[in-house]
Amino acid sequence: MKLYEFQGKEIFKKYNIPIQSGFLINENDEVKNLTSPLVLKSQVLTGGRGKAGGIKLWEGDTDVSQIINELFSLNIKGEKVRAILALEKVDILREIYISITFNRGKSTPVLIVGTSGGMDIEKSAQSDKDNIHFIEFDPFIGILDYQIRLIAKKVHLKDVSGFRKIIKAMYQIFKDYDAVLIEINPLAVTPLGLMAIDSKVDLDDKASFRHQALFQELEEEQESLKDKKDSNDLESTDDTITFVPLSGDIGVISDGAGTGLLALDLISDFDGKVASFCELGGITNSEIMLKALRLVNNQSSLKSILVVLIGGFNRMDHMAEGIIQFKKELKEDIPIFIRMCGTKEEVGKQLMKDENIPVYNSLIDAAEAAVKEARGN
Ligand code: GDP
Ligand code: MN
Repeated sequence: MKLYEFQGKEIFKKYNIPIQSGFLINENDEVKNLTSPLVLKSQVLTGGRGKAGGIKLWEGDTDVSQIINELFSLNIKGEKVRAILALEKVDILREIYISITFNRGKSTPVLIVGTSGGMDIEKSAQSDKDNIHFIEFDPFIGILDYQIRLIAKKVHLKDVSGFRKIIKAMYQIFKDYDAVLIEINPLAVTPLGLMAIDSKVDLDDKASFRHQALFQELEEEQESLKDKKDSNDLESTDDTITFVPLSGDIGVISDGAGTGLLALDLISDFDGKVASFCELGGITNSEIMLKALRLVNNQSSLKSILVVLIGGFNRMDHMAEGIIQFKKELKEDIPIFIRMCGTKEEVGKQLMKDENIPVYNSLIDAAEAAVKEARGN
């Protein structure tokens, strides 16, 4: 999970990494009595904001609300700006690059330090390899003082003690939060000492179960800042449902990827066109079935739905309950064709028959019927 700059900096603050003081401006916030000079930074998850015009300096001689409106109207690499971080401007004497991430090849964490950080780090890392240093270290021992002294010398930094505090704090955050990346670019040398001007924090989604409250809090904070996904994107609306919109008129729901793909092939063999591929993700229940049907039914081109189920762990009576529930909420009827077999198959089939929903033993027959319906015969 990638964090916004302001979220990363909140963590930095907790670990005493020096940052500028500032505040967040949300869309439609009234801004009054601001003191210049301020750096106004659009909060987006993509990098290269500065280059894309997403960072503006307000020196007090112009109308600040105009700059703010300008930033809110930006679209940075497809991301709309929904919040601006306003920071007290600091004088920057020098910019350094610093990050901690994993060297997966060597299975170690690695500290990366660049002599000249800033917006061109990717270029300078390519053109001037001597300016970038990689220090792999033992995760149990951490980064040792001598390594920090050595690297401070290499990047010509005098404030070794300030540098050490920041590196140690970064590694502590890296561990405490199960991060995969903590990046400060630039780490600036300022008249007030070293300061994190930017923050990039990426947390390991696979470790989210260890930080449930934190992930929930961060996600809630991000919810209002993110765009809703385009309906044509591959999206996962539920932890377990995979939904891939396609361009045809037959919706396919399966409780496993294999049977789902087989159903797509069969539809294609019968000259049908698939509207969407929706896979419930293995072990499932009536609620997930209901959600999947709602999702598939959202497509305007839809003419029929094919549901293919193999009850191993899944109970067909539960699947049938989800389908019946869906039928009940429908305003406009949509024909559903079902192939179900396995656990509690008889109960499931009986429930379907009671509701006059066609149920098949053969996947081929069910696919053919769904195609015929879509074709109108
Ligand atoms: P990015 O473009 O998304 O990486 O945004 P950054 O937060 O890294 O800012 C880009 C650049 O703007 C930095 O490398 C700095 O050169 C400049 N910048 C940002 N904040 C300040 C500030 O407070 N003072 C000065 N002098 N420059 C700043
Ligand atoms: Mn940056």
